[in-house]
Amino acid sequence: MVADSDYEYDFLVIGAGSGGVRAARMAAAAGAKVAIAEDRYLGGTCVNVGCVPKKLYAYAAHFHDSFDDAAGFGWQLSEPATFDWATLRDNKTSEIKRLNGIYQRMLESTGVKLLNARAELVDSHTIALKDTNGVSYARARKILVATGGWPWVPDFPGKEHALDSNQVFDLDTFPKRFLVLGGGYIAVEFASIFNGLGSETHLIYRGDLFLKQFDHEVREFTRTEMEKKGVNLHFNANIERIETAGTSYNVHLTTGEVLEVDAVLAATGRKANIQGLGLEALGIQLDGDGKIPVNERYETLVPSVLALGDLTAGPELTPVAIAEAMQLVDYHFKDATPPPLDYTTVPTAVFCQPNIGTVGLSEEGARQKLAKIRVYSTQFRAMKHTLSGSQERTLMKLVVDDATDVVVGAHMVGEDAGEIIQGIAIAVRAGLTKQDFDLTVGIHPTGAEEFVTLRTLTRH
Ligand code: NDP
Repeated sequence: MVADSDYEYDFLVIGAGSGGVRAARMAAAAGAKVAIAEDRYLGGTCVNVGCVPKKLYAYAAHFHDSFDDAAGFGWQLSEPATFDWATLRDNKTSEIKRLNGIYQRMLESTGVKLLNARAELVDSHTIALKDTNGVSYARARKILVATGGWPWVPDFPGKEHALDSNQVFDLDTFPKRFLVLGGGYIAVEFASIFNGLGSETHLIYRGDLFLKQFDHEVREFTRTEMEKKGVNLHFNANIERIETAGTSYNVHLTTGEVLEVDAVLAATGRKANIQGLGLEALGIQLDGDGKIPVNERYETLVPSVLALGDLTAGPELTPVAIAEAMQLVDYHFKDATPPPLDYTTVPTAVFCQPNIGTVGLSEEGARQKLAKIRVYSTQFRAMKHTLSGSQERTLMKLVVDDATDVVVGAHMVGEDAGEIIQGIAIAVRAGLTKQDFDLTVGIHPTGAEEFVTLRTLTRH
């Protein structure tokens, strides 16, 4: 396909994160003439300051337990294990550089032109590209805004001493005492990471119990397990102010407590990354939730300007942005009408210790939506821990619609919960029944087999 004569490109993508890169590559593969503008790193939040480095750090944190667990299996370390932050941080940075290179080659090999510049919308088909050489302009039949989100930190005195989740990965020195504000994914994951790496760790959350969008039993269970591992959880508390104390910080809480720590992370959510993009001039406004409204074809109020991923409604998750990118390309560059994405069965994991994996409705959500439900829930100590001596426990839970027998929610807290729930998510998305689960033969001995052997009703 050759670009319309009026336009230099068929498709111009702003932002080379997960959604933008996938849309650019797929559109180019479908024959469109495509460019992608990015003035930061390739791969966006996920690759550079999100999923990938976070998971590498979560692996690092897990070794702590593994060293402790090994003794019961006969392994003795000749010297106590020590941890070197600089090695982890720098190895992580090298790996991300490698991934940045892969992204660049993937784009180039599909014929996408990489524009290393800051992009601003000028009109419905034109963007200005600003770099050190000045400003140039490019016109495209369709423009995709895929600039994702940016960490947001509330105002309090001493806010400037708090790190955000973009900065926490590259600390010069390892914080022996670490504090995180927030009760969402990032707060819970980083509390587990620094606790596992050996910091004295505090999590401060303004509500009664963290992870408010998750199943209540999952939240309670996670609280117990994280406390058992030594994370200090402070609920119904917020940061009032942060003061410096030499090289450390005194964090004053609204409860009156003062905690002295070496690093503070504010994990208080993210906002649409649209500053300076020029959306307002085109009449494209954020809705009440701070998202760009789009229709099912990802078109904004200005039909030639599209948006997806963290900028639009729906879970802020990399695989969601990627799925949306594929849909968008189907609509706009393949003349296809794919079935709409099912946002109700998007599985997700929180990589705290132990991990949370979940898909579908929480017990509370199911009670609101359905006339009658059945809940099958089990808690146990994994076989590995009979010898390791670890007191870590696992939670597995199925929520079933009583009228149809369909499993509408599956939840797990335990080792590899994300890996296990990914498979279970296929069954939940397919609308399989509890009987289908029961008729599936287990794999023995695994923890996952519990999902097909849950026979005792816990409650209606
Ligand atoms: P979340 O929206 O998940 O959590 C933000 C937390 O900050 C909430 O607990 C919120 O409290 C709290 N908060 C908000 N405002 C204030 C305030 N003024 N004072 C004190 N606390 C406040 O955001 P995250 O930053 O944790 O993560 C952003 C998103 O990134 C996630 O929602 C998720 O979609 C994605 N992500 C996914 C991961 C994964 O898939 N494993 C990992 C990391 C991030 P309250 O609950 O009361 O509103």
